[in-house]
Amino acid sequence: MLIDGQSVGAHDGRVIDVENPATRTVIAQVPRAGEADVDRAVQAAARAFETWRRAPPRERGRRLLEVADAMEAETETIAHLVARETGNAIRTQARPEVKGAVDVFRYFGGVAGELKGETIPLGEHMLCYTRREPIGVVGAIVPWNAPVVLGALKVAMAVAAGNTLVLKAAEDAPLGLLRVARLCGEQLPAGVLNLLTGYGEECGAALARHPLVRKLSFTGSTEVGRLIMHAAADRIVPVSLELGGKSPAIVFPDACDDRTVDGVISGMRFTRQGQSCTAGSRLLLHRSIFDAFLDKLSARLTTLKIGDPSDEATDMGAIINRRQFDRVCAYIEDGLGRPDARVVIGGLPPKEGPLAQGYFVQPTVFAGVGHEWRIAREEIFGPVLVAIPWEDERDAVRMANDSHYGLAAYVWTRDIRTALATAHAIESGWVQVNQGLGQFPGQAYGGFKQSGIGREYSLEGMLDSYTQRKSVTVSLQ
Ligand code: NAD
Repeated sequence: MLIDGQSVGAHDGRVIDVENPATRTVIAQVPRAGEADVDRAVQAAARAFETWRRAPPRERGRRLLEVADAMEAETETIAHLVARETGNAIRTQARPEVKGAVDVFRYFGGVAGELKGETIPLGEHMLCYTRREPIGVVGAIVPWNAPVVLGALKVAMAVAAGNTLVLKAAEDAPLGLLRVARLCGEQLPAGVLNLLTGYGEECGAALARHPLVRKLSFTGSTEVGRLIMHAAADRIVPVSLELGGKSPAIVFPDACDDRTVDGVISGMRFTRQGQSCTAGSRLLLHRSIFDAFLDKLSARLTTLKIGDPSDEATDMGAIINRRQFDRVCAYIEDGLGRPDARVVIGGLPPKEGPLAQGYFVQPTVFAGVGHEWRIAREEIFGPVLVAIPWEDERDAVRMANDSHYGLAAYVWTRDIRTALATAHAIESGWVQVNQGLGQFPGQAYGGFKQSGIGREYSLEGMLDSYTQRKSVTVSLQ
C-alpha cells in the first residue's frame, strides 16, 4: 500500500489473495488493511493537506500531467496487470482502460488552473468575491470492474482541486491501481495520495467513518452506496455516489442495421462481460423489427472470441470472481426457469472444456421477457441482455423510466426529432444517441434516481464535488 509516501504492509501483517479469474489461480497477495492502517493513512493525508491546499493550482496540475506521462510509458505493464486481476480482455478492455486513465490525468492536469471564483456586484461600497477552496481529506472507494480508470478519476479530481485523499482499491483488483499509486507517489508530495488495499466491511467502512475524512466519494453498488451515505450523514460530510444501473437501449424501426447491432453490443459492454454500471442491459426493440434485430444480434455475438484475457485475439474475458459468477448464473437459471422466456443465444456456462477452467459466461440474450421480471429489473452485472418489444414510443419511454436506476440510456434512430424527444424524456444522467461508447473526460457524468448523487469526470463535476465555495465580503468605505 502507499501511506505517507512509503510502500507498506498492513500493520498486523495480514494479506489478501488476488486471483486471476480466467484461471482461478492466486497471482499475488496484497495487504489487508484494517482500522489502524486507515487511521495512519488519514492522518498522513490530513498533515499533507496543510501544504497541498496552498500549492498553486497549475502546479498541482503540472504534477498530474507528469503522472499521465509516467503512466503512459507504463501502459503495457499496467494493462497486463489489469487483464490478469480483472479477467478483462487486454485488447478490448484493459489497454483502453489504462489509456482512458492517462487521459483522465491529462484532462484534470490541464483544467486545474480553472478553479475560478466570481465577483458579485453588491454595490460600489462593498467588494464581494468567492473562492473555490478544497474540502480536506477525501475518503474514496472504488470497485473492481474498471479499477484503474475509476481510481485515477478520484485521484485526479481530488488532487487537482487541492484536496488530499485516501483511496481504497477493490479487494479483487488492487494490482493495477497499486502500480498507478506508485507513479503518483513519485510526482506528488508524501501523504497527498494514500492507497489502501482491504475488504469493504473492514477497511472501507473504517475509512467512511473516520472523523478526519471531510468528503466521501464512492463508486460501487447501490446497496453499499446507501451505507456510505449513512456514514456521511452521521458526520454531515458531503458525499458523491456513482452507483448501479439497468440502462435501457431503445431501438426504433429505422435502425435495424449492423451499425446498431455493433453499438448495442458495445453499449451492453459484452466485451467487459457486461460488468459495467452503464451497460445497456434492457433492449427495448420495436415489435416490427424484434425478430430480425435479434437474428442479427445473435449472429454477431457468436463471432466474439471468449477466453484468455491476456491473448490479443480475445474479445471477452472472465467474470471477476466466484461470487459474481454464481450470481450471474443464478439470474440465467431464473430466466431459463420461466416458461415464456426464449434463449436467443447463450445460457449457462459450459461445465467442461477450456472455458470451465475460469469464470467464463457466454453472451446471453433472453426474449419473451416480462418487463417486471427480476432479470429485467435488477442489475445482473454480467453478459445477460433482455429484449422486450414495444409498439408505441410512449410505452418504450415508460418502460425505460420504470426503474429505480437512472444512470445511462441509448437511443437508436436516424430521425433527429425522435432521437432528441426520446433523449429528453428519459430519466437518466447520460443518454447516448446512435452510439454505445464509454465516458469522455469533460463530460459531466453521474446518475439520476438511485444511480447516484453528484457529477464527476468534468471540470464542473470537480468544482461541484471536490471544492467548497467561500464568499468574502469587504467594506470599501
Ligand atoms: P461493491 O459496492 O460491492 O464494492 C465497491 C467497493 O466498496 C469495493 O472497494 C468494496 O470493497 C467496498 N465496500 C464494500 N462494502 C463496503 C462497506 N460496508 N463499507 C465501505 N466500503 C465497502 O460493488 P462492486 O461489486 O465492487 O462493483 C459493482 C457495482 O459498482 C455495480 O453495482 C456497478 O453498477 C457499480 N459501479 C458504478 C459505477 C458508476 O460510475 N456509477 C462504475 C462502476 C461500477
